[in-house]
Amino acid sequence: MIPYGRHSIDDDDIAAVVDVLHSDWLTTGTKILEFEQAMARMVHAQDAVAVSNGTAALHCAMHAIGLQAGDEVILPPLTFVATANAVVMCGGVPVFADVDPQTLLLDPHDVEEKVTSRTKAILAVDYAGQPCDYDALRGIADAFGLVLIADACHALGASLRGRPVGSLADLTILSFHPVKALTTGEGGMVVTMQAEYAKRMRMFRNHGITTDHQQRLAKQTWEYQMTDLGMNYRLTDFQCALGLSQLRKLPGWITRRQAIASRYDQAWNTIPGIHPVPVGSGVSHAYHLYVIRVDQEKLGVDRATLFSLLREQGVGVQVHYIPVHLQPFYREQFGTEPGLCPHAEAAYEDILSLPIYPALKNEEVDEVIATLKDVAASHDLISTAVS
Ligand SMILES: *Cc1c(COP(=O)(O)O)cnc(C)c1O
Repeated sequence: MIPYGRHSIDDDDIAAVVDVLHSDWLTTGTKILEFEQAMARMVHAQDAVAVSNGTAALHCAMHAIGLQAGDEVILPPLTFVATANAVVMCGGVPVFADVDPQTLLLDPHDVEEKVTSRTKAILAVDYAGQPCDYDALRGIADAFGLVLIADACHALGASLRGRPVGSLADLTILSFHPVKALTTGEGGMVVTMQAEYAKRMRMFRNHGITTDHQQRLAKQTWEYQMTDLGMNYRLTDFQCALGLSQLRKLPGWITRRQAIASRYDQAWNTIPGIHPVPVGSGVSHAYHLYVIRVDQEKLGVDRATLFSLLREQGVGVQVHYIPVHLQPFYREQFGTEPGLCPHAEAAYEDILSLPIYPALKNEEVDEVIATLKDVAASHDLISTAVS
């Protein structure tokens, strides 16, 4: 089976991890700051805080902005459940704004419609690896005094009009799960343009204690103060060493993902009924996902059948995502219903993610395309024969 996403690990990565495993510091050592600073430099951010996964990173960001019970956060439903869950974890209320019907990115007009006196933040999602319209979102955030947060778990390595993802919002969330742009096994980071947020998140990931292990060691003291409630969301040093080693390869990987995407894009000229999600002007897309829209009338196959047939043929397609507001938890707890975000709901009916990852070969891309063509053609014959 060709999976929809996959990590790339080479001997340099393994050597970097082994080095740390031979050292005295498996966690709370120096690799963490090194990884954070390298990332902050690469994405033109002020600071960065490494944590145990992307979900923890979202939780840290919600804590950093001081989200209180009843505060509202506006976000799109076409995302992984963790985006909304982080809001709820802090007692906040997720307010779902619809996506643009073409790009499937948070629609600034609907965001503005959903702002109330309780709104604290906008939590945009760079769906598939395409940055949202941060100029428009910044305008709304400034006009209403809101914090602008990017869930960029898909978009590390992307940029908008030459500005890298990581420098476009007040806080930007990254994930280093194996299917994402780079991996530390599990892992995540919040990069930020404001030092004060970073300070709060460093404490939050370490039990709300004001000093870390290294600082106490340097001062030869056992004393520490806990001034805030916190978690243990630390990322280990060997994971940060892996992340650092992976980071050097990121630009090349993004280039490869873009080349795969353009190979797919060209193929649809000969298959009516398949449309890629369009890319906005000034966007350099990170292509965590390559998403097509299936026009079942033209293709002759509905999305569910196409999904099963491709899986049977060894093509690991996936659907990203069931709109979060349609999940039972949100319907029960927040009374969200179908009809709330019609564009996201319509997209959910016809989206399909095709395999894309740096190690995917051109021949495999062609195999995916050929399989899709075959499945559509043979199914067309079957349905014609039956009718
Ligand atoms: C992967 C992902 C997350 C969660 O990251 P984990 O590292 O798996 O916890 C959050 N939001 C989006 C959009 C993601 O794709």
